[in-house]
Amino acid sequence: MEDPTLLDFRTRAIHVGGEKCSVTGAVVPPVYLASTFVQPGAGKWGDFDYSRSGNPSRKNLETTLASLENGCGALAFASGMSATHAVAMMLKPGDHVVAGTDIYGGTYRLLHKIIQPLGIEITLVDTTDLKNLEDAIRPNTKLMWIESPGNPLMTVTDIAACAAIAKNRGVLGGIDSTFATPVLTRPLDLGLDIVMHSATKYIGGHSDLLGGVLVVKEKQLYDQLYRIQNATGAVLGPLESFLASRGIKTLELRVREQCKTAMELATYLEQDARVRAVYYPGLASHPGHAIATRQMEGGYGSMISFEIEGDYEKASRVVESTKLFQLAVSLGAVESLIEQPASMSHASYDKADRLKHGITDSLIRISVGLESVGDLKNDLDQALNV
Ligand SMILES: *Cc1c(COP(=O)(O)O)cnc(C)c1O
Repeated sequence: MEDPTLLDFRTRAIHVGGEKCSVTGAVVPPVYLASTFVQPGAGKWGDFDYSRSGNPSRKNLETTLASLENGCGALAFASGMSATHAVAMMLKPGDHVVAGTDIYGGTYRLLHKIIQPLGIEITLVDTTDLKNLEDAIRPNTKLMWIESPGNPLMTVTDIAACAAIAKNRGVLGGIDSTFATPVLTRPLDLGLDIVMHSATKYIGGHSDLLGGVLVVKEKQLYDQLYRIQNATGAVLGPLESFLASRGIKTLELRVREQCKTAMELATYLEQDARVRAVYYPGLASHPGHAIATRQMEGGYGSMISFEIEGDYEKASRVVESTKLFQLAVSLGAVESLIEQPASMSHASYDKADRLKHGITDSLIRISVGLESVGDLKNDLDQALNV
């Protein structure tokens, strides 16, 4: 292939890491289900030896992702959480982590229930306020972990500014970029060291796989994370790797269309008297709108939260009444989903803490899929009337 760095994103999503099979000419690389590989000689190693250390199907996916995020390398994991855990495994007792208050619930649990008991300190700060972040960094801070847009209020964090702080203070800068996807934001270009995605979401895009990825800028960091992955073994299987690779070919098309529909739905909800507030970075009323416009290219994602007029019970009834929006956690796939954070994605928070974060009883979160905008609008309209 010609120099892939000269190709546009959409072309790279289809061709880099998706080369035809050199043996049969099959346009789609086969799925390599093999656990082990025959070696050229005793103590002589081929490109692949054992599938925990490397598998051609996983490698293809990693090659594509490294290209799309402009990284030096990528690693595919069994889930988003195992990818984040691999980053946390670089830490040692006595180290300190600064993370955002609105990080994914599973990351919150990982940091507080698994990492903190190892003697690693955790501080959560509102990363939309850069002074908070700067003040929270101590001499033993090793990792900054941010997320933008955040969950469930779609808070927007200034990635380039966070990266500059991390660099200046000698802290490793990582981001969970699941909501933004590499289509809209490329955090390595903005100066961060590590990008993580739950491939379960937009990258897979069809609600049919669980996976996670890390993409990094520097070879040394890649080697360190590769050693951790190989030693601990939470690798993505070949079938899931294949499905994720297949999903990526339409990633840009899907995300662009989903953003368009989400923008239209957010605008519709904002003018509706049954809705008290809408949280979507594409709306001028969103506090992170200006930063989002700068760091999200051509769209604001397809996650929307909104607060309805009414109580917990009313919000429960609304999420149970949609016909196209499926009542489920997760996000980013072709089918639209709806949920009530207070009773579902954020149910593990104690109530006072949840309210402090602005996650009210009447908050509803939707993941906008690829159905027609008219049908989705009608579905929300009838559900809001219950
Ligand atoms: C789903 C999700 C994760 C966790 O990914 P899994 O694949 O479920 O392990 C992490 N961060 C965000 C933002 C997510 O939406």
